[in-house]
Amino acid sequence: MSKHIVVIPGDGIGTEITAVAQDILAITAKKSGLNLNFEVYSAGGAALDKYGEPLPESTVKAAKTADAVLLGAVGGPKWDQVEPKLRPEQAILGLRKALGLYANLRPIRVFDTLVDYSPLKPEKIKGVDILIVRELNGGIYYGEKGQEGDRAWDVENYSVPEVQRIVRIACQAAKQRRGKVTSVDKANVLFTSRLWRKTAGEVAAEFDGITLDHMYVDNCAMQMVLAPQNFDVIVTGNLFGDILSDEAAVLTGSIGMLPSASLGDGTGLYEPIHGSAPDIAGQGIANPVGTILSAAMLLRHSLAADEAAATIEKAVADVLAEGYRCADLYKAGTTKVSTAEMGKLIAAKI
Ligand code: NAD
Repeated sequence: MSKHIVVIPGDGIGTEITAVAQDILAITAKKSGLNLNFEVYSAGGAALDKYGEPLPESTVKAAKTADAVLLGAVGGPKWDQVEPKLRPEQAILGLRKALGLYANLRPIRVFDTLVDYSPLKPEKIKGVDILIVRELNGGIYYGEKGQEGDRAWDVENYSVPEVQRIVRIACQAAKQRRGKVTSVDKANVLFTSRLWRKTAGEVAAEFDGITLDHMYVDNCAMQMVLAPQNFDVIVTGNLFGDILSDEAAVLTGSIGMLPSASLGDGTGLYEPIHGSAPDIAGQGIANPVGTILSAAMLLRHSLAADEAAATIEKAVADVLAEGYRCADLYKAGTTKVSTAEMGKLIAAKI
């Protein structure tokens, strides 16, 4: 059966990196006997220029009926002055809402050949392979908020079903990995965290072969730098997840390399963690690996094509091991390649 993939290039380097990732998906599909068809839609600044809105209804409709969405990135200085509700970044929030995406998955994997790029010592970072599962649709970002005079408030709010569904995703992911889930909260201070901790324990007990531990968020921020090799899957709320996932991303020393998946009950959305990098857009030098690895996540999570996903991941690791680097990671002793050349090298391995 044919699977339908909506590609949203977005702005800046988005068009360059999604073109490469789409090619890789098509080649991998052919090799694995999968039948994929692709359709390109507009969002972000590109859509604002073309349709007068950052997220046209046609894009939302296509995304909702697709099997998966691959997104580049949106935004750029050209649209910095537009009114808030028309900003390109509204497209991401709109898509998350329209697709009911409540789980953000961010793997933080350090390739052996890239340990020298981390701000941590190689012996601390070698072998790090963490999956951060962040709740995306609730918590303080969506609670009651307001301001009166010199006082403002944002309410943190979680229900048991909201915690259950995100912890289930973390436990399911951990079963495919090393079986360890760390639930991160601030249960010594917050009621929401106490509800989170109790619920996480109940959900984890439903799973065989999973060990669950609990960690306060302040300790987790510290442990991430002191002993990142000890983590397997981290599950946490929206605010803590936002902060911890950026902290973890820095461990790898390369923003261009990291993929993400956002999952809900319908179509999943896959995108690199970086933005549209306007400073290097149009030069053909952007690193496409974060988007290519997002395409691998798409195969795994939306199409249940684990083997095809692993084929892409191995191809990326092999090309890096041979010393090929885009400009962001280039240094003496490695071979500098363009966005398109990196894509071709990875495709050749597949
Ligand atoms: P950015 O991630 O775009 O860029 C930060 C730095 O990292 C830049 O120096 C850039 O050149 C570099 N970089 C990023 N991706 C790279 C890649 N693949 N290869 C090589 N270098 C790369 O963050 P920013 O500059 O703060 O934001 C630029 C625009 O992107 C803004 O409009 C912002 O709102 C938007 N943004 C969008 C998303 C998204 O679409 N999900 C996420 C973050 C930022």
